Amino acid sequence: MARILVTGGAGYIGAHTVYFLLRAGHEVIVVDNLCRGHRRYVDPARLRVLDIRETRPLAKLLRQEAIDAVIHFAAYAYVGESMEKPEIYFDNNVAGTVSLLNAMTETGVRYLVFSSSAAVYGVPREVPIPEDNPVAPVNPYGESKAMVERMLTWMDRCRGLRSISLRYFNACGVEPGSGLGEEHDPETHLIPLVLRAARTGEPVTIFGDDYATPDGTCIRDYVHVSDLATAHLAALDWLLQGGPSEVFNVGTGKGHSVMEVVRTAETVVGKQVPYQIGPRRLGDPPVLVASPEKIQRTLNWRPVYTRLEDMIRTAWEFEKTRS
Ligand code: UDP
Repeated sequence: MARILVTGGAGYIGAHTVYFLLRAGHEVIVVDNLCRGHRRYVDPARLRVLDIRETRPLAKLLRQEAIDAVIHFAAYAYVGESMEKPEIYFDNNVAGTVSLLNAMTETGVRYLVFSSSAAVYGVPREVPIPEDNPVAPVNPYGESKAMVERMLTWMDRCRGLRSISLRYFNACGVEPGSGLGEEHDPETHLIPLVLRAARTGEPVTIFGDDYATPDGTCIRDYVHVSDLATAHLAALDWLLQGGPSEVFNVGTGKGHSVMEVVRTAETVVGKQVPYQIGPRRLGDPPVLVASPEKIQRTLNWRPVYTRLEDMIRTAWEFEKTRS
């Protein structure tokens, strides 16, 4: 049992991780400014409404709550928005993390699990992507994650702060019975949009069907949010047991095309998903699939959800409650 501070714990992945931390018997405090998070995802007794850029109150909280480790989700996470407003990404994601690191240094908190992203790879050199693929982001969102990863390398060397950066591939699904959901505003992610199309009859747009992939649509590595959550628990245990700083991909290693997502959703929902083909989305690489070999070997992490259909079913159970 450890005392964990979770920044961004009112968001989709953060709240799922809190759910699993509590189930594992950890003590959890959530810091979230609620600008994009959901108050109802967090037990009010654990929630501290605070922006991570507020270093003083953050340091006070770390000290008062005798925090052992931080899991850091708080960030903006829209690629498109990051191209339009790069400065808010550098401010919230990078300067926000600097503030958190200052608070941690001051209070002697030595362990950090960081939400990174496959976006750090940009257009990958090889697929499945190993962690030593060059870091070459193609948008400010990915850049903000890469910058933090680099800061963390130096914080380890200079300050002895141990960290694990988890490079997520495509998070999806909802933990059954958790009361949580996937609710972005606006929603930009494929699976919720496909399920919404099934529910409302409003077509979803497929961004390009002329890629050099078997069916012409983009391929991604979808990983269930509950499996992502357990990856954070494994990373935390690694650090608390004295493991060195590392970077890991978190994906299943299996790719699915946009068209496959549509067809699988049709099977799950039991009706046709209306869709239209639109132009490519700027900055979308054709194929992004993780090599999950390193996290499997090192942390002994394996996804429970390996079938796209099972992942989509959990998302549909949630989507149905929204009608
Ligand atoms: N996508 C799509 N239509 C949408 C949203 C997404 O065709 O309305 C495609 C997108 O081009 C990508 C895949 O679905 O190939 C996953 O996109 P998402 O935004 O869910 O995640 P990303 O891969 O950008 O992190």
